[in-house]
Amino acid sequence: MNDTLEKIDKEYVLHTYKRNYTDFVSGKNATLYDKDGNDYIDFTSGIGVVSVGHGNEILANALCKQAQNIIHISNLFLIEPQTKLAKKLVDLSGYDMRVFFANSGAEANEGAIKIARKYGEVDGEPKRYKIITLKNSFHGRTITSLKATGQEKMHNFFGPFPDGFVYAEDIDEVLSLCDSKTVAVMIELIQGEGGVEPQDKQKVKILEKELKKRDILLIVDEVQTGIYRTGELFASNLYEIEPDIITVAKGLGGGVPVGAVMTRLKDIFSPGDHGSTFGGNYLSSIAGCTVLELLEGEKLNGRLDEIMLYFSDKLNEFALQYKHIVNEAVGLGLMRGLRINSEENLSKIITKASKNRVLVLKAGRNTLRFLPPLTITKNEIDKGFERLHSVFKSIS
Ligand SMILES: *Cc1c(COP(=O)(O)O)cnc(C)c1O
Repeated sequence: MNDTLEKIDKEYVLHTYKRNYTDFVSGKNATLYDKDGNDYIDFTSGIGVVSVGHGNEILANALCKQAQNIIHISNLFLIEPQTKLAKKLVDLSGYDMRVFFANSGAEANEGAIKIARKYGEVDGEPKRYKIITLKNSFHGRTITSLKATGQEKMHNFFGPFPDGFVYAEDIDEVLSLCDSKTVAVMIELIQGEGGVEPQDKQKVKILEKELKKRDILLIVDEVQTGIYRTGELFASNLYEIEPDIITVAKGLGGGVPVGAVMTRLKDIFSPGDHGSTFGGNYLSSIAGCTVLELLEGEKLNGRLDEIMLYFSDKLNEFALQYKHIVNEAVGLGLMRGLRINSEENLSKIITKASKNRVLVLKAGRNTLRFLPPLTITKNEIDKGFERLHSVFKSIS
């Protein structure tokens, strides 16, 4: 059955992914099951998406109930759960902002770029339009968010791209690139796809201050770091900064596509300036509300912090045991990585891990990335690391 499915998939779906053809049929929290009933520990949560775990009953029930009622009526009408989700995001963040809802991270970033561009206009003229991003960043796959992404290899095709993006080597170089045309700086506080690279907190705070002085907007792309991934609602909370614009997506819907851009520029848009057919509909907003309620609960009862500490201890211990393969353990909260000594070993590890029934990710060139569900149990963590031990023991 799987062979047939694999064949059909290859025949009919465009080849944009190097797929693993394991046929998963069900899941419970951080455990997935294939059609033969084998269990896999999921340290990926669908790339940071399934924040409250697979098969979450509370989320499933909320979605079912909503689907039986109204799924969608468009943004031309009041949508109760969207209103509630916006208020909840703003209240939990502690930032004085308003929210626009989209369907993905790239789309949230497009919204952020539009806000910045509009902010830089004077009498309809683009007086300031340049946005500085980092060379190792990742901001999405649409033409504009791809151009915002600083990694050169991403710009091999698809041109011409929109103008106005400037890439800084690192956060230290940002201010020296600002000129009279610069309207915003966009950063990830922990680069995800780029290789689990946390920025230095003090440097970020200094950058924030300097940008404020120059009236240059700070956009924080929290598509991966947001929604309690680092222990606080936003990594911006952890870094104790107040961005002008924040984008979120991955973990917010627990698997239902939902993206959002939040800004303190509450009146930047007038009706007609921006929009989305699907964004913030009943289904995705109920998903967001339910996920936030669940994770706020995990944070308040101490379980989130406890499990983050547990994972961190396990990972550090693991790194020390395999010093000949692992250069360093990196990351924050449940956004973690191991720097592997060679690209070759890294790809061996990922393939062998899947065969040993533990799912892990690659980031950057040499980082083994961990993005488990935020509801993962100690037992699941133990099992996952046990399986990783056999993988690493087989690598010389
Ligand atoms: C995943 C990601 C994106 C893109 O999100 P999509 O939902 O795939 O469009 C953008 N920025 C960051 C930091 C991400 O991790």
